[in-house]
Amino acid sequence: MTQATSEITVTPARDYGNEVGQGWPGVVAPAPGELLSSWLHRLALANGVPPQYFGQVLGVVGGDWSAKLDRDLPGQIFKLLVERTRLPAEDIDGLALHRDPLARLRLRQITGSGDARTSTARVNRLQYCPACLKEDRAPFFRRGWSLATRVSCFRHGCRLRDHCPACGGGIAPARQNRLLPQNFCVWCDADLRKPTLPAEYDAQRFERLIDDLLRVHVAGHGRHGKTSLPAMLGAACFAFKGETTSISRLPHRVRYVLFRQLADGMTHLQKRSVHPAIDLWTRIALAAPKHSDLVASLSAEITSRITPRAKARSRHSDLAGLQLAIIRLHSNRRTSLATAMPAN
Ligand SMILES: [Zn+2]
Ligand SMILES: [Zn+2]
Repeated sequence: MTQATSEITVTPARDYGNEVGQGWPGVVAPAPGELLSSWLHRLALANGVPPQYFGQVLGVVGGDWSAKLDRDLPGQIFKLLVERTRLPAEDIDGLALHRDPLARLRLRQITGSGDARTSTARVNRLQYCPACLKEDRAPFFRRGWSLATRVSCFRHGCRLRDHCPACGGGIAPARQNRLLPQNFCVWCDADLRKPTLPAEYDAQRFERLIDDLLRVHVAGHGRHGKTSLPAMLGAACFAFKGETTSISRLPHRVRYVLFRQLADGMTHLQKRSVHPAIDLWTRIALAAPKHSDLVASLSAEITSRITPRAKARSRHSDLAGLQLAIIRLHSNRRTSLATAMPAN
């Protein structure tokens, strides 16, 4: 038996550094509306690093390292991210929540002690829509979900959720120590995408009005400082577990019930309404039914789905309704601002 002669050639491997330069091998583009921390977790996974350890790569310590960066992205880390990913600087800058006009209404992140199973770690406030995560090719968290004024998904009409449906633990993708996508609970490995119940129409209508008003504020049409709409909404204190607390510290379950009660006009807050900031909440709730009618009429006008005669009739009622809603909101705000109390 003759063996074919074969030559084994040895070629020196190309230098990795020369091949990829300073860039990281895996780069993922941010998804529209994605939160910075969510993108960082996906970037870590793309480079074979579990998110829990990626904070060390960036020089940030702590179990909730990425939540810190959401609120304060230091210049040197921003520069490092731009250099290593070679993505446009403005794409990365747009993900963070620093210089945030709605900071007062963002859910407070509770920093855990580092032990994954301690009670502090299990009340991490990060909410999500399970149906949205199910549609994502690579599940990601949206910036809009970090607002305490959001309790449902406008796309799917279902309620948001801020805990694992299996173990009840907080949502803490920054603590993932394995190479798993963000739809898995870091405490028990359960899939977080179990559906939630549909949101009730009245509660969602109220939520939409607040969201629209905040958009107007962000677009630069609101006053700023202590009398701004976010500051006033954030100044309201609600009783929770025997303590008064602002909306940004309440769990989703409590905020959803509060929205439903305000929308139904059933809450005792409306009868009391001694606190000017609480009064603003109830005034918005009163304006919410009118607001959705206005939006519907406006949509119909734009899409020319109504007859000229009906258009003439609806224009009068629209203007009257709009004036009423604005007068209700702003006249009360003006009289109440002087005594507004800051939230804790
Ligand atoms: Zn959704
Ligand atoms: Zn779990």
